[in-house]
Amino acid sequence: MTHRTVIVGAGIAGVSAAAALRNSGYVGDIDLLGAEPELPYRRPPVSKEIVQGVKTPDEIRIKKAEWYDEQAINLRTGVTVASIDTEARALRLSGDEAILYDHLLLATGGRARAPWSAPGIRTLRSLADVPRLQAELAGGGHVIVVGAGLIGSEIAASARGLGCEVTLLETASLPLPRLLPPQLGELYVDLHKTEGTNLHTGVMVSSIDEHGDQTVVRSVDGRTWSAPVVVVAVGMEPNVELADAAGIVTTAPELGGGITVDALGRTSAPGVFAAGDVANQPNGVLGGRHRVEHWQGAQNHGTAVGKVMAGGEVPFVEVPWCWSDQYGHNLQVVGWPDAAHELVVHGSMADRDFVAYLLDDGIVRGAIGIGRPRDIRTARAWISAQERLDAVLDDGSVT
Ligand SMILES: Cc1cc2nc3c(=O)[nH]c(=O)nc-3n(C[C@H](O)[C@H](O)[C@H](O)COP(=O)(O)OP(=O)(O)OC[C@H]3O[C@@H](n4cnc5c(N)ncnc54)[C@H](O)[C@@H]3O)c2cc1C
Repeated sequence: MTHRTVIVGAGIAGVSAAAALRNSGYVGDIDLLGAEPELPYRRPPVSKEIVQGVKTPDEIRIKKAEWYDEQAINLRTGVTVASIDTEARALRLSGDEAILYDHLLLATGGRARAPWSAPGIRTLRSLADVPRLQAELAGGGHVIVVGAGLIGSEIAASARGLGCEVTLLETASLPLPRLLPPQLGELYVDLHKTEGTNLHTGVMVSSIDEHGDQTVVRSVDGRTWSAPVVVVAVGMEPNVELADAAGIVTTAPELGGGITVDALGRTSAPGVFAAGDVANQPNGVLGGRHRVEHWQGAQNHGTAVGKVMAGGEVPFVEVPWCWSDQYGHNLQVVGWPDAAHELVVHGSMADRDFVAYLLDDGIVRGAIGIGRPRDIRTARAWISAQERLDAVLDDGSVT
């Protein structure tokens, strides 16, 4: 009988795993099942070029429609997997269809956290979220964005670009608190100010309610802001419910959440793997475990686990890397920046043309740059090799 691999989730991790299976010579069946009705697409442009209206969905497809046929990958969109029976190695779809598998990959990603509910609240995770929000932003009115992390900051920048009055609210004392150390967070305070975004930090939102045609955001210290539309961008929840219900081991939310996998992407259930944003995986460089929510991490993890499903045995080890585009500036972050790290800056922060190395006892643990992709690539290799910055600098490797 033909071997059958089923992939749940047609995001970048799922598509990359399917491609890796075929590239590794796997000749069995591949079913790629995605809940979204769309041909799989690149998610990062959604908060940038897509919401700004400068790219169309067809310009951000991961692969052309014909690629799936050429690779004999049975892509089924608009299909939600409702349950897994790991004993019987069977899946049930929401329409009650049953599918048997030999290998199963859970690449279910995550969804936007939504702690409040009101008619004027929007979140942005998928293409389906775009048309209404885009129409609202196109009016150029006032919009409030809750959360100045990667996605919230990008939405604020995109809304400014569309001529909106933007209020950006953040609980931490600086924007991008999970990515940037304080000195660099300050840089983004200045950037939002220069670009006309009204950033308020130290705002702990207590409620968001509808009042007439306004949506009112209240903070625990009694301050209020109101606008017709409030975009809530306060992180994502990994889609672990399928795994949980099937008795597959997941990681507690306070430890990062997600489906627990080993370095080969294997879950606790025989023949079941997980990859991408949903996977809580070993950190092959620093030890311990982590869950990464970055595009390239999901792509490379999907590829690595696809190769394992095809019979490979190479553990996945990667230094995280991500980027963010705001107001025309490309920020890149690599490694594990931490507020306690020593910061060594090359270039000019004032000109937004620099790379900052983050050192732990002299060892490079992270690097953050604006306009310095090549330095970031070099730093990534140093982080992986746990190099001392003074040693590689003596080497003349940095200019
Ligand atoms: C707006 C936005 C902007 C971003 N910008 C950047 C950026 O600039 N740089 C960067 O590095 N990262 C960025 N990211 C993060 C990056 O997009 C993610 O890390 C990446 O998309 C994760 O890929 P994934 O395949 O693991 O999961 P996802 O992209 O979440 O895909 C999972 C898919 O599984 C489907 N699914 C879930 N459950 C089921 C089910 N039961 N049955 C069938 N299908 C199911 C979902 O519908 C979804 O389509 C951004 C994310 C967002 C939302």
